[in-house]
Amino acid sequence: MINILKAFYYEICSYFVPDKIYYKITGDCKQCGKCCNYMYSYDTYTEKEFKIMQFLYPAYRRFYIKRKDEDGNLIFACKLVTKDGKCSVYNKRLAMCKRYPVKKLRHKAQLHDGCGYKVEDIKFEDFLNKKK
Ligand code: SF4
Ligand code: SF4
Repeated sequence: MINILKAFYYEICSYFVPDKIYYKITGDCKQCGKCCNYMYSYDTYTEKEFKIMQFLYPAYRRFYIKRKDEDGNLIFACKLVTKDGKCSVYNKRLAMCKRYPVKKLRHKAQLHDGCGYKVEDIKFEDFLNKKK
């Protein structure tokens, strides 16, 4: 009887399991400089919004608007990247630069073409193997 109740309970629970997929970042930086030259801030469409962002985060004054993507989002670049794609203030770069690309993701991200990193699915077997 207990087993039947358990099975019934698990059957109900299964309808409430969220469909979650996790991703991980693997690989290494090739120091191409694309991520310093082509940056997005989603939902930043106008120069005014860009200026507000710089006002709220003064460290972002190092960025300048380059152009817009096909959806109208601004693409901006850092004034501190050298011509050969290196950071000229590497030891004092922003925390966001140190974290890039974030290693654990819940939503699939896109990286620049030719980036040395890759976004890989974390499979169910990976979770099981981790628990062993
Ligand atoms: S785009 Fe990728 S490979 Fe190029 S500098 Fe940025 S992290 Fe490194
Ligand atoms: S501070 Fe350095 S790492 Fe950060 S965006 Fe500028 S050039 Fe790139």
